[in-house]
Amino acid sequence: MKLLTTIEECRQFREEHSGKTLALIPTMGALHDGHLTLLEQAKEKADVVMVSIFVNPLQFGPNEDFERYPRPLEDDLEKCQSMGINAVFNPSSEQLYPNGQHSLTQIMPPAHLTDKLCGKSRPGHFVGVATVVQKLFAITQPDIAVFGKKDAQQLKIIEQMVIDLNLPITIVPAPTARAASGLALSSRNDYLRTELEQKAALVPFTVLSHIKSLTEQQNNLKQSKSFKKIAQQVWQQTLDTLKLDEKTITLDYLEAVDTRTFNTVDILDEYSKVLIACKIGKTRLIDNIDIIETGSEKTKQHTQPVACAV
Ligand code: AMP
Repeated sequence: MKLLTTIEECRQFREEHSGKTLALIPTMGALHDGHLTLLEQAKEKADVVMVSIFVNPLQFGPNEDFERYPRPLEDDLEKCQSMGINAVFNPSSEQLYPNGQHSLTQIMPPAHLTDKLCGKSRPGHFVGVATVVQKLFAITQPDIAVFGKKDAQQLKIIEQMVIDLNLPITIVPAPTARAASGLALSSRNDYLRTELEQKAALVPFTVLSHIKSLTEQQNNLKQSKSFKKIAQQVWQQTLDTLKLDEKTITLDYLEAVDTRTFNTVDILDEYSKVLIACKIGKTRLIDNIDIIETGSEKTKQHTQPVACAV
């Protein structure tokens, strides 16, 4: 496995493998089993697999966790090596942003994809994401890039960017990998140390799966009731059942969108996706669920930690 740190080394690596298909998996490191499923997918789809590890300052707001974001590079390299990855690109900020972050050409995703959900709570976040991803694409020249469905809004924005900028890259969406409890794996889960925080971390998936099972079993969300109203009730009941209050966990958003357009909807149907973001202390967790799931996600069963009788 090659460790590449400069743009020149990447270009040379691409040239050495010019007749082969290359898959890129952009990450911020602190690799967990969720990332590893992306690596597996990439290996199935391309001859050569490259992982990029870069904690991108451009996508963090001033009061976010850029400084404390975990950076266990040695562990990450070992994981990539044992997965049979061909190269890791681990550039410095100076390598990607030699003139700093302020005088930079940036990619501006369309407003209808960024004016809601994480884009609303984290102004500038998706400009930072789209800009760094486009730079990584230009530097590494992949045929395929794998992104997790866990970051659903990010995935949609990257898919749109590839279409709008006519990039010759296939975006492969990967299902969300979860712990047995249903908690979506995330590098930020390591911030949650106390028992109370770990209990609170069960809330997002519990809320999503209750909303989903309500649509399946009662069909009542689909028919007439306002999603917003039911969502609020499910949120409150989940907190009550887990004996948690808003001192431990706060809701940033709980919304439904049409997956085809990412427009917000209030009546769910088979195209709907429900997305949630909450904060436990300073730790922000996001998750989402499709109302009708496809492929491997369909069959997976997770423990539902609480019963909820909305
Ligand atoms: P990150 O390192 O958090 O920027 O994530 C790198 C890639 O891994 C992104 O495409 C994420 O959507 C994806 N990812 C993160 N967590 C998961 C998960 N639990 N399941 C599947 N993909 C994930």
